[in-house]
Amino acid sequence: MKEAVENLLETASHEVGGLAEDPKGLDQARIRFLGRKGELAQLFKELGKVPEQERREAGRLLNEAKSKLEAIFSEVAEKARQAAAGKREAIDVTVPGRSPLVGRLHPITQIATEITRIFNWLGFETVEGPEVELDYYNFEALNIPKDHPAREMQDTFYISDDVVLRTHTSPIQVRVMEKRRPPIRVIAPGRTYRCDSDVTHTPMFHQVEGLMVGKGVSFGDLKGILTTFVQQMFGPETGLRFRPSFFPFTEPSAEVDIQCVMCRGAGCRVCSHTGWLEILGSGMVDPEVYKYVGYDPEEVTGFAFGMGIERIAMLKLGIDDLRLFFENDLRFLSQF
Ligand SMILES: [Zn+2]
Repeated sequence: MKEAVENLLETASHEVGGLAEDPKGLDQARIRFLGRKGELAQLFKELGKVPEQERREAGRLLNEAKSKLEAIFSEVAEKARQAAAGKREAIDVTVPGRSPLVGRLHPITQIATEITRIFNWLGFETVEGPEVELDYYNFEALNIPKDHPAREMQDTFYISDDVVLRTHTSPIQVRVMEKRRPPIRVIAPGRTYRCDSDVTHTPMFHQVEGLMVGKGVSFGDLKGILTTFVQQMFGPETGLRFRPSFFPFTEPSAEVDIQCVMCRGAGCRVCSHTGWLEILGSGMVDPEVYKYVGYDPEEVTGFAFGMGIERIAMLKLGIDDLRLFFENDLRFLSQF
């Protein structure tokens, strides 16, 4: 019996030791040695044939063999488990890396930066003003008194009788002139709000306001500065025209059209087949406005202009739906 047990243990440790990477073979070996009809069980069956005086010792040997066999199997099973874990953690250094998503500036921010950069280059200083604005700065001091029909043109968000969400960036003009004396050259980008929402309007949009005031500033300066801006923004070959218009705070006033950037003036859907696109409003600061800030209209003159940043961005980037700017769709935003 002793010999049989030793043979069994030797065979088992020899055969099972090589099965760490063969889980199926390991299971089969376990059945063969430790199963209900396995080799160890056969030896236990023969225990009855062993002479009585040796039976006790043989039983002890068999029980010991069972523990040893179980130890052999659990050792190999542990090796198998570690081998599998090692495989999962192995790093293939040749696999190309996954690059993280990098954020970028919103197209509106990019265009606003581009616009202010051009005016900074022309000597204009960037300034800002509050988005929650007093009625006085948004309307009154811009020559738009309470009963003025121009208020009807702007669907204003009122916070109280005297406080509004600014409907344009023009109040910044007044705030700057109140604080400083001429010469003044400022550019003021920012958010503006109107109670309006359709394909071409959003309740919040962006404007850039410009103001230049000093001794002898003329309409010729206005034309020169805005022509330079258009050529910098849309290319030196871009034609532009000044069209008489009306704003309560400028006199005379002009709207500026540029040659259609899509068809180069030939006429297309974007320009309604006129060949021209309106991009901004401008004019000489109305002498009435100077009275609010204590400037002498006999001494200084100046011009102001304002444009919608979304409008410029749509023309510059070839986008035909205003709403795309506000939907925050990464497929759209990541193109710029
Ligand atoms: Zn066109």
